[in-house]
Amino acid sequence: MKNHFDHVVVGGGPMGASAAKYLALGGARVLLISAPEPAADRAGLRSSHNDLSRLTRGLDGSPVWAKLAQHSIARYKELERSSGIPFFTESGCLTLLESAAPDAVDVAANLMAVGAAAGVRCDPLDAAALRTRFSALDVATGARGFHERADAGWVNPLDYVRAQIEVGRESGLTVWPDIMISAERGAQGVSVRTAGGLECTADNALFAQGVYSLFAEPLFRQQELSVFARTVVRVELDAAQVAALEGIPSMIVRGASDEDNCYLVPPVRYPDGKHYIKIGGGRRAHMLESLSQLNEWYAGDGDPEIAARLLCRLEGLVPVTLPKGGISQACSIAVAPSGLPIIEKIHNNVGVLTGGNGHAAKCGDEVGRLGSEMMLGNARWSDGYPLNAFSG
Ligand SMILES: Cc1cc2nc3c(=O)[nH]c(=O)nc-3n(C[C@H](O)[C@H](O)[C@H](O)COP(=O)(O)OP(=O)(O)OC[C@H]3O[C@@H](n4cnc5c(N)ncnc54)[C@H](O)[C@@H]3O)c2cc1C
Repeated sequence: MKNHFDHVVVGGGPMGASAAKYLALGGARVLLISAPEPAADRAGLRSSHNDLSRLTRGLDGSPVWAKLAQHSIARYKELERSSGIPFFTESGCLTLLESAAPDAVDVAANLMAVGAAAGVRCDPLDAAALRTRFSALDVATGARGFHERADAGWVNPLDYVRAQIEVGRESGLTVWPDIMISAERGAQGVSVRTAGGLECTADNALFAQGVYSLFAEPLFRQQELSVFARTVVRVELDAAQVAALEGIPSMIVRGASDEDNCYLVPPVRYPDGKHYIKIGGGRRAHMLESLSQLNEWYAGDGDPEIAARLLCRLEGLVPVTLPKGGISQACSIAVAPSGLPIIEKIHNNVGVLTGGNGHAAKCGDEVGRLGSEMMLGNARWSDGYPLNAFSG
């Protein structure tokens, strides 16, 4: 391998893989250094997208996230076709506002306004209409919802990333599965070393390291980022339960308190051959302020209290008798103060792409495209994003 590139991208998650692809499509020589996911019982770098399903939808309380999502979703089918890798299941998405949600009226008004401005196609439904449309759900009196029938559902984020890399490779993208251990700026641009012994230089470097952007070296650390511990639970289903839940959409549920807010992804078949339904969200668990705290968190199974609460919520939402207990898992998300992704140049030839805020699996394509634009020196965002939207 020749060891000088136009761009090195560090971190092959939804954001970095997409940015690397777009840079390669533009004709640049690009190296993507992407840490392989360690086995569950091994130490290593854990990515936020390491699961088989992530919810996707165009409707959002934030007009910027709505736009990022819509642009990404509009390109899913073409990416599936050109890579030959399917990753999108168009199950639809239901945003459910329970009557107990204290801010339901404001949230509904905001969703309607953002959705209308962004041209998101969704059906507003009252409780009776929800019951008619979703017989497999338990809908309480007074609830209301917004149903996106099309262009929403869930993506397999690992396959989404594989699809990006596949298309990038066709344009000459080089992928190196390894951990970057150091990066320095110098006369030859940026010099990078990996744990496996690769040494290379690049004119430009883009660091897309997810939560590790907070714990990285000073050259590319994002100090304003917060990393939050999250717990997710999946429950095994038998064939009859899978059949009973046939056709349920992905769901975002707003309840009486933060603890009751949750999301739910329809049953998915895992590599062990079994189907699981997944629920996450709930109270935002504690912050992880150092690498050792992050590693300690990943060594466990998440927060048992949050897991129990999520299981209880799941039982209340789907009217099938679920088996007791589930598989609880620790994970983490990178949150920026603005609530939007950070897409920022920190030196003339060094950029950072992080801050998924729990939203960026579905939006990886558009966030990565903007990251590539930034690295190519485009001073203004295309498509009318606010000028300072992505500065953290
Ligand atoms: C439980 C959970 C549920 C979620 N649900 C949703 C959802 O329903 N919908 C949605 O859109 N989003 C969801 N998200 C958020 C989404 O997964 C993240 O926003 C997204 O994965 C962020 O992408 P990223 O590329 O920034 O980071 P990551 O996905 O973390 O990828 C970063 C990559 O960089 C690698 N890396 C870091 N440092 C180095 C290094 N030194 N050398 C080499 N590689 C390195 C990491 O190993 C990792 O592979 C969820 C997140 C969690 C945790």
